[in-house]
Amino acid sequence: MIDWDALTAELQGIEVISDPNQVAKLSQDYHTFSPILQAQLDGKKGDLVVRPTTEAEVMQAATTCVKYRVPVTIRGAGTGNYGQCVPLHGGVVLDMSRMQAIHWIKSGVARVEAGVKLAALDKKARETGWEMRMAPSTYRTATIGGFIAGGSGGIGSINYGQLRDRGNINAIRVVTMEDEPRAIELRGDDIHKVNHAWGINGIITELEIPLGAAYPWTEVIVTFESFMAAAHFGQALGDADGMIKKLISIFAWSIPSYFGARQYIPDGTHAALLMVAEPSLELLPGLVQEYGGCITYQRSQQDAGKKFNLAEFTWNHTTLHARSANPNITYLQSLFPADKNLQIVDHMYRYFGDEVMMHLEFIRVGGRTVPAALQLVQYTTEERLNEIIRYHEEHGVFIANPHTYIIEDGGRKVIDPEQMKFKQMVDPYGLLNPGKIKALMRS
Ligand code: FAD
Repeated sequence: MIDWDALTAELQGIEVISDPNQVAKLSQDYHTFSPILQAQLDGKKGDLVVRPTTEAEVMQAATTCVKYRVPVTIRGAGTGNYGQCVPLHGGVVLDMSRMQAIHWIKSGVARVEAGVKLAALDKKARETGWEMRMAPSTYRTATIGGFIAGGSGGIGSINYGQLRDRGNINAIRVVTMEDEPRAIELRGDDIHKVNHAWGINGIITELEIPLGAAYPWTEVIVTFESFMAAAHFGQALGDADGMIKKLISIFAWSIPSYFGARQYIPDGTHAALLMVAEPSLELLPGLVQEYGGCITYQRSQQDAGKKFNLAEFTWNHTTLHARSANPNITYLQSLFPADKNLQIVDHMYRYFGDEVMMHLEFIRVGGRTVPAALQLVQYTTEERLNEIIRYHEEHGVFIANPHTYIIEDGGRKVIDPEQMKFKQMVDPYGLLNPGKIKALMRS
């Protein structure tokens, strides 16, 4: 039995939240996009929320939780989709969102605390001619620590690939959960011991993150009569190395009917939502014409009068908008094989029809433009969802299953032995986010 009063007394000086409603709220994330996770994680919550503001306070919290052998679930902004920050065994929710210092930005690199919001970092970086290389569509709320520990890529991945790609993270500093916690700085390839580890391998306090050159971006909507014409256009724009872009999202009708931008997308048409650098805009109409498209909307990203941010209809925001109209909709996360002819995309589009609505996000993988996808699925049963997943896998489509809270069953498939070795060193009592790794299942 944990003596919560004694534990709280040892956290003196740090903000602690014990109000059950607030604790329950701060134990949630966006796993609710999955009907399967919704059922599995219903009612799971922590006992206490601890909100450090400095690394010294993180150390104090870690020392205390180790002493009382209390599970610790780390939280950024709680926008993850796999229940990554839902505590399975109660304990402390360590909310990192108050650690918001941007230490420095220079020569295309930023050093920041883990709780910095992605939009805040981007804004600051742009003042110096740099910007975030990639960001999830939750950039306004998500933290950099949560993105590194729980995300994968997003707006900008068409240029820089994903977080897991070498060179997208320079350094990660973590606090351990040993009897006497330490702060360890990982650099170079060692960062993979913590990258996308869902908070099981140390508490990230600081990061060094490389930036990209900032461009004036223009948001563009292009519509097409045929979905495959839109998809081929997306591939061609991705392959046009001299044209600078940050986002190529392709949507089969009726997905655009869920968007606040639908006045620019006539009923029954398929849409490409783009962010293109101003110097490359002149070339866009020619390429659009080649694929039979029509530009229906064009705004500068900084235009104060615009009514929406186009990026906030893309990536997993697409699912958010669709679900607010129809809560029976869920989604897949896929990577199609590299193929300029997009044959498997074409096959899946025709084969599933409206049951699996096609949503492509072109990204860079190993130097090539490849369609990732967050297809919308009309959910019926778990069995049917698994059948759909299996059919994709049998046809060479990689599925990062978003309907599981087990790290190996999602995008990872196996845990890197180096990550496991690091875990044993930094978290010898298995207190960090217990229950999320198959290899270390608690009974
Ligand atoms: P949280 O959800 O709070 O945490 C995520 C994971 O990181 C958890 O396992 C948590 O324990 C761990 N963690 C958090 N902070 C730390 C820390 N300091 N130290 C160690 N571990 C930590 N993801 C994408 O990659 N791309 C997208 O485009 C994208 N779009 C999305 C759209 C919507 C509408 C939603 C709901 C989600 C989307 N996501 C996307 C998922 C999620 O928003 C991002 O991954 C986001 O970056 C997570 O940040 P967060 O601060 O909310 O992290």
